Amino acid sequence: MPNDIRPQPGILDIALYRGGESSIPGLREAVKLSSNENPHGPSDRAMEAFRRAAHSLHRYPSTDHAALRAAIGSVHGLDAERIICGAGSDEIITFLCQGFAGPGDEVIHTEHGFLMYRISALAAGATPVAVPEADRTVDVDAILAACSPRTRLVFVANPANPTGTMLPADALERLAEGLPPQAILVIDGAYAEYAEGCDGGAALAGTRPNVVMTRTFSKIHGLGGLRIGWGYGPADIIDVLNRLRGPFNLSTAQQDAAEAAILDRDHTERCRNDNARMRAWLTAALNEIGVACDESHANFVLARFADAAEAEACDAHLKTQGLIVRRVGGYGLPQCLRITVGDEPSCRRVVHAIAQFRGLR
Ligand SMILES: *Cc1c(COP(=O)(O)O)cnc(C)c1O
Repeated sequence: MPNDIRPQPGILDIALYRGGESSIPGLREAVKLSSNENPHGPSDRAMEAFRRAAHSLHRYPSTDHAALRAAIGSVHGLDAERIICGAGSDEIITFLCQGFAGPGDEVIHTEHGFLMYRISALAAGATPVAVPEADRTVDVDAILAACSPRTRLVFVANPANPTGTMLPADALERLAEGLPPQAILVIDGAYAEYAEGCDGGAALAGTRPNVVMTRTFSKIHGLGGLRIGWGYGPADIIDVLNRLRGPFNLSTAQQDAAEAAILDRDHTERCRNDNARMRAWLTAALNEIGVACDESHANFVLARFADAAEAEACDAHLKTQGLIVRRVGGYGLPQCLRITVGDEPSCRRVVHAIAQFRGLR
C-alpha cells in the first residue's frame, strides 16, 4: 500500500552509534580496552545496593531522585536543586538538544568531539556544526569564530574523548564569556575525576547563566552497564530539562546503586590513583617503543601511528593477541587507536603486543 510515512528531517542523517567492540570471534577470553570502562568495576556498596533493589521491583521508583541528588550535591559541594539525573549523561545531552535546539538552529561540537553531540543535535532537527581543533585540542578561538545568531549549544568534553587532551579552566571561562547571548556552553565532565585538579566545570556551571556541566557514573564509578548520569547548571535551564524528563527515567536500582557509588569516596580515590599510575606507565612505555601519544588527562590514551593502514594493521595484530582497543576513524582520527587504561596486567599485555607488532620483541 503506498503511503507518505516519513521520519522527521535530520533523522536519516544519523549514523548509528557503534560502541567499542566487546569480543573477538573464536576467542573466549578477550581483554576489553575499547570503551573506557573501569577495570576495577563498581564499589562493593553499589553492587550491594543493586542487589537490595531486587526486593522492591514491584514499586515505582522515586520521580525526583532526591536522595541521589542530595548525595551528589554533598560529595561535589553543589546545590542539589540544580542537579538533574538521567539514564547516562547521554540522556542529559538529549534533553539539552531537545530543549534548546530545533530546525534552523546550530549545535557546535569540535572536529574530534564525542559522537553523541552530533547524533542528539540531528535527532532534535538541529544542524550540527563541526569546528576544527588545534593538534587534537579544542580551540576556543575557532569555536568563537564559528558562532552565529543560530548557535544554541556548544559541546566541549573536558578532558576530551577520544583525544584525552583538556583545556584549563580559564580557557573555558573565556569561551563562556564570548558566546552569543542565546547560546549555552555544555561542559561534558565524563572524565573529570581522572584529571588533576579538575572540577569538571562545576564552578562555571554554578556561577554563569550560560554554562551546564554533565557528568556520568559510567567511567570512574564503574557503572556503565546501569546507565546513570547527571547535569548541573542554572536553575532555569535545569527546569527546562526536568520538563522533558520522563517521571520514571531512572529505576530504583539505578538510583540506589549510584547513590552508594558516589558516597564510597575511598573506592573513587583508589580508582583515580590507580588510573594515574597506570596511565603514566602506559604513556611512557608506548613512547619508549616509538608510539606517540598526547598527554592524557582521562582513563585512556590515544596512540598515534604513521597512517590509517598502520593503525589498522596494529589493531588486527592486537586482536590476534586477545586485545580489543578502539579504532577512532569515526572521530576523524583513522591513524590512531584509543586504548583504555586497564589494570596492570592488561597494560603490560597491550604494550608487549604493540612492541611485537613493531618488530621490537
Ligand atoms: C563515556 C562518555 C560519556 C558517558 O556517557 P554515559 O551516557 O553517561 O554512559 C559522556 N561523554 C563522553 C565524552 C564520554 O566519553
